[in-house]
Amino acid sequence: MEKQNLYDLNFDELTQLLADLGEPSFRAQQLWGWLYQRYVPDVAAMANLPKTLREKLDTAVTLSAGHIASQQHSSDGQTQKVLFQLPDNQLIETVLMRYEKRRTLCISTQAGCAMGCVFCATGQMGFFRNLSVGEIVAQVLYFARQLAQTGDHVTNIVMMGMGEPLHNYQNTLTAVDRLTDKTGFNLGARKITISTVGLVPAIRRYADEQRQTPLAISLHAATDEERGKLIPVNRRWPIADLMDACRYYIEKTGRRLTFEWALIAHENDTLEQAQALGKLLHGLLCHVNLIPLNPTAGYGGVPSSRERVAAFQAELERYGVSSTVRVRRGIDIQAGCGQLRDRVISQNKAP
Ligand code: SAH
Ligand code: SF4
Repeated sequence: MEKQNLYDLNFDELTQLLADLGEPSFRAQQLWGWLYQRYVPDVAAMANLPKTLREKLDTAVTLSAGHIASQQHSSDGQTQKVLFQLPDNQLIETVLMRYEKRRTLCISTQAGCAMGCVFCATGQMGFFRNLSVGEIVAQVLYFARQLAQTGDHVTNIVMMGMGEPLHNYQNTLTAVDRLTDKTGFNLGARKITISTVGLVPAIRRYADEQRQTPLAISLHAATDEERGKLIPVNRRWPIADLMDACRYYIEKTGRRLTFEWALIAHENDTLEQAQALGKLLHGLLCHVNLIPLNPTAGYGGVPSSRERVAAFQAELERYGVSSTVRVRRGIDIQAGCGQLRDRVISQNKAP
C-alpha cells in the first residue's frame, strides 16, 4: 500500500488522523511543529511523540519528497538542482538559487506540462500528471531542512519549475496556503510568485480570490502571429483576451504584474516586437523580465546576444515600460525547467 504523504494533510486532517489512531488532539500541534517549524526528515525524529505512536505513523505515512534520482551543483556553487523520483516513478525538478541575501526555490507543480510551449524542455516532454499538495510542499521542506543545517532558510519561492501552476489550480493554491500558514512554515505570501502561461479563466479566478501572492505572465511575444508559434495556448486565449484578464487582475488587486520574456535571437527580440510590446504594456502597472533563452534539445532557437538584449530593452524604455535583464542561473547544470529530467532519461536510454 502506498504511504500517505503527511504534507498532503492540513491541520484539521492531521488532527483527524491522530484521533483515528486514538491520540489526544495536542499531538496534532506537536506533529505540525515538527513538520513545518523543525523540518524533520522522518517520523523517527519527532522526539516528543511516544515511541508506539511514531512506530504506528512510520508504517502509514511518509514525509519524503521522493527518492533523489540525480543532483547537481553549478560550478560557482550557487545553484543546486535536485531531481526527485516520485513513488510512481515520475520525475520532477526543484532548483535552489542562492543570491546575496535571498534563497530562492524554483519548484514544480506538475509532472510534465500540457501546454507544449515549443522552447520549453517540459513542454517538449508532454503532460503526465498533477502533483498533489504534499508533493509540492515536500520540495520546499526538503530544501528548508538542508538550509537549516547552516542556520539558513528559504526566503522566496517561484512556481517556475515543471508544469503550469494554474492548470493544477487547487493543489497549487492549497500548497501556497500551507506554506504561508502563520502557525506553520510562515513564509510571506508576497514571497511566492506564481508564473502562468496565460490561462485566462484561471487568471480571472485568481484575481477574484484577491490573493497576495504575486503573479507573473509568460508573454514572450506581443503579436498573436508570433506568440501562436511559440505558445500553442495563445490560439485558445489570444493576446487581447489575455491582456483583458491582466487589466482585470490589476484593477481587482491593485498589484503590479510581471511579464516574462525569453529572448530568442531574430525571433521575438526584434524592434517590431519591442515596439508591439511597448504599445501593449504602456501605462500598465507592470514590469518586464527579459531572460535570454535557455537552449533546449527540442528547439532550434538561440539566445539573443547582449547587444540585441540591450536594444530591446532600450526600445521598451521609450514606451515607459520598465524591465530587468535576468542573468541565467545554473546554465552549466541545465537548470532551465525540465532540462535535468531530460538528461537523466536519455542517459538511462543509452546502451
Ligand atoms: N508554466 C509556467 C511556469 C513554469 S515555466 C509558465 O509557463 O509560466 C517558468 C518560466 O520559464 C516561464 O516564463 C517559461 O516561459 C520559461 N521558460 C521555459 N523554457 C524556457 C527556456 N528554454 N528558456 C527561457 N525561459 C524558459
Ligand atoms: Fe508548460 Fe510553462 Fe513550459 Fe509552457 S513554459 S510548456 S506552460 S512549463
